[in-house]
Amino acid sequence: MPFDPDETPLARTRRARRMARELAVIHPDAHCELDFTNAFELLVATVLSAQTTDKTVNKVTPALFARYPDPVALAAADRAEVEEILKPTGFFRAKANSVLGLAQALVERFDGEVPGRMADLVTLPGVGRKTANVVLGNAFDVPGLTVDTHFGRLVRRFGWTAEEDPVKVEAEIAELVPKRDWTMFSHRVIFHGRRVCHAKKAACGACGLARWCPSYGIGPTDPELALKLVKTPAASDTE
Ligand code: SF4
Repeated sequence: MPFDPDETPLARTRRARRMARELAVIHPDAHCELDFTNAFELLVATVLSAQTTDKTVNKVTPALFARYPDPVALAAADRAEVEEILKPTGFFRAKANSVLGLAQALVERFDGEVPGRMADLVTLPGVGRKTANVVLGNAFDVPGLTVDTHFGRLVRRFGWTAEEDPVKVEAEIAELVPKRDWTMFSHRVIFHGRRVCHAKKAACGACGLARWCPSYGIGPTDPELALKLVKTPAASDTE
């Protein structure tokens, strides 16, 4: 267990901030990898990104939004047509259901607009805190921590939290990272998870966070071996 209960809150906060600053240096290109032009598009794209890569979602959303540019159009869409467009994303029947239900709820309860508040967003079907934070952080400029599988794995490896539950993880990390940084910090952690600190083979020997990370050594520490595990930007969108 990388979390050290004897580390003082002050020491943990200092270490966390040091690591967060280093992540900004390591991943200056971190950003939301879903393509969107407004909050509606980002919300739909985020819902579609469950169990598939952002790249795959980006391949289908141009056709989807050209045909259905807003919640009103999507709420009235022909289900078979939506399913056809979403086919490459996998689970396309369930996903068509999700986005149609989402559009209908936006029309019925929010006048066809995406609400800019967490309390409203999480009332939408298929929208949890993670999706809501993606939308708030990237379409509304409201800071949000996006606790997906990469994020949870990494902050536990960093020894920042011992929690498994994403809501508890979010609350603990919110105490360590300044609020204004939450959105970009989330992108950087997710980039680090995709490129360096992989679930199965962490590239510890090529990791810029090694000196502050209690999990250093869970993956190869030999620099040459580790470097081979680091994914290049073009190949990093695997989950
Ligand atoms: S040192 Fe290893 S476990 Fe720690 S963040 Fe880097 S790759 Fe992950």
